[in-house]
Amino acid sequence: MKLSRIIAGTVAIAAATTLAACGSDAKKPDAAPKPAAASPSATTGGSGGGGKFVVKYEEPANPALKPIEQLLKTNQVYEKGAKEMSDLVKLDQDVPVIAKECGEENAFWDPQKKEVQMCYEMALKLQTVFDADADKQTPTEQNVVGGMTAILFHEFGHGFASLFDLPITGKEDDAVDQFSAVILTMGEEPRHKMVQDVAKVWGLFAKDEKELSAAAFAGEHSLNAQRSYNFLCWMYGSAPEKFQDVVASGSLPESRAERCPSEYQKMAGSWVKLLQPHLKG
Ligand SMILES: [Zn+2]
Repeated sequence: MKLSRIIAGTVAIAAATTLAACGSDAKKPDAAPKPAAASPSATTGGSGGGGKFVVKYEEPANPALKPIEQLLKTNQVYEKGAKEMSDLVKLDQDVPVIAKECGEENAFWDPQKKEVQMCYEMALKLQTVFDADADKQTPTEQNVVGGMTAILFHEFGHGFASLFDLPITGKEDDAVDQFSAVILTMGEEPRHKMVQDVAKVWGLFAKDEKELSAAAFAGEHSLNAQRSYNFLCWMYGSAPEKFQDVVASGSLPESRAERCPSEYQKMAGSWVKLLQPHLKG
């Protein structure tokens, strides 16, 4: 990953302690996994970065979730992401990435257990909305892989903010959406299609909303439609010549698009700075 070669670093301050829910609307907060009691032995031990992300699959009790578990396994969605991040950063301990049935359509970073939790229900929800999308250009399976990869990187962003005490101002969920977009658009083989997939996810979720509640406006996430436009903006901003049609077609309004290249450069540079002290070689 070329991230390590680009800029110089910075240091850290704050520590998040609450479970970071990452779906559009955690409607059933009491169904969310409960953080375990903090364990002193679980804190970083300064072992010199020998840890890695380790993927585990929990058997879903609901048989309707078995096919989506299989789709994720077959495509190695979490394994590929875990390896990419393990190769990128120095971790003092192994960090589990747990594929599981959660009781809700969501994904989490648990700062006390220090683990990523990816709910089968979230992947199934993506499959459902993509299947129903009349404008679909590519097979649903590919869309689900793209969308869930972007969501996985979002969770890794929360993980890094927590594990490395990264300073974040503004909504952390916006910052880690940016991290996801930066990872997917940087490097020798940018994965713009995956950015498009996750932009589509939030766009389709927004379409389903009849009206926005006070809770949606008050939530820790930007609104679904905003998240969708953000990802389109960052994709366009990462390669404006390549994605002129995103603006020409009206998918991304010109008023936002003109700022996207500088917005993208700024956030990419910021994430590189934040992670620089933690990067491998
Ligand atoms: Zn989140």
